[in-house]
Amino acid sequence: MRAVWFNRFGGPEVLQYGERPDPVAGPGEVVVRVRACAINHLDLWVRGGLPGLEPEMPHILGNDVVGTIESLGAGVTGLAVGERTLVLPTLSCGACPACAAGDDHLCRAYDVLGRRRNGGYAELVSVPAANCLPYPANLSWEQAAAVPLVTVTAWHMLVTRAHVRAGEDVLVIGAGSGVGSAAIAIARLHGARVIATAGGEAKCARARALGAHDVIDHTREDVAARVRELTGRKGVEVVVEHVGGPVFEAAVRSLARDGRLVTCGATIGAKVTLDINLLFGRHLTLLGSWMGRRDDLTAALVHVASGALKPIVDSVMPLSEARHAHERIERREHFGKIVLTM
Ligand code: ZN
Repeated sequence: MRAVWFNRFGGPEVLQYGERPDPVAGPGEVVVRVRACAINHLDLWVRGGLPGLEPEMPHILGNDVVGTIESLGAGVTGLAVGERTLVLPTLSCGACPACAAGDDHLCRAYDVLGRRRNGGYAELVSVPAANCLPYPANLSWEQAAAVPLVTVTAWHMLVTRAHVRAGEDVLVIGAGSGVGSAAIAIARLHGARVIATAGGEAKCARARALGAHDVIDHTREDVAARVRELTGRKGVEVVVEHVGGPVFEAAVRSLARDGRLVTCGATIGAKVTLDINLLFGRHLTLLGSWMGRRDDLTAALVHVASGALKPIVDSVMPLSEARHAHERIERREHFGKIVLTM
């Protein structure tokens, strides 16, 4: 099969395009013929090397796979060769107390396809049969590939962790990111008023078009001060954060009494200063979140199928252009998902 892989950590230049052996479906697994695979920021982290993470080498990235079932491993039932599928990107043991309780995100074996195990930057990928979810028939391959990882992440943050409610004000940091654009749609779906941040006029306009009620240009406005203005000095009940550093600090200052901040990332800085006076004085809750539960994605897919949640595709590139796609993300030029097609 043709694939994009690397055998040493580094910048986009370590990505190679060429032939790799076809994967084989082990017991309980299927091989999926990949039709499209979206790129996530996680891919850039894995490519660069993460402390303690030892991926399968040579490594094939790719968390967000859609395609058709090519072959079935031993013991697989309920799936048919040729069937279309959207692949749940999260991996868990399926047998421990956390998995049995539906809290698969707390499984000690929890991982993401394409992180340790080879993923979807390839014509074929083997995945656990349990990860094959029904394909959302209203979407093209490119649109469907833009759904899984950011949707499970944003749904888990807003719905499962922060319990967003109708009438609340929600601040979404970074509307142009995959998680940010998904969070805007999910917050609106739950009846919240959305204030989004974006960098520059073009991205602010796109955030408005996505449904943000108000947009703050973080390149020229003070986010916390502007949130106070927009909420009659109250602040927001919920912040969706994934950037870290001074952005996280401004996000904490933007919270209303009893406000909840939920974060899933630290793209610009993992060390922050926290004013504990604000934390207790305003009854704040700080929530960590990473990926999500299987049930988060299946709940969201109902709204994807109805058209209420629409995937945001920045651009579509052939698999051979994966390196350029990574470079585009590193330059922060994208808005929504970049999708590779095979
Ligand atoms: Zn488990």
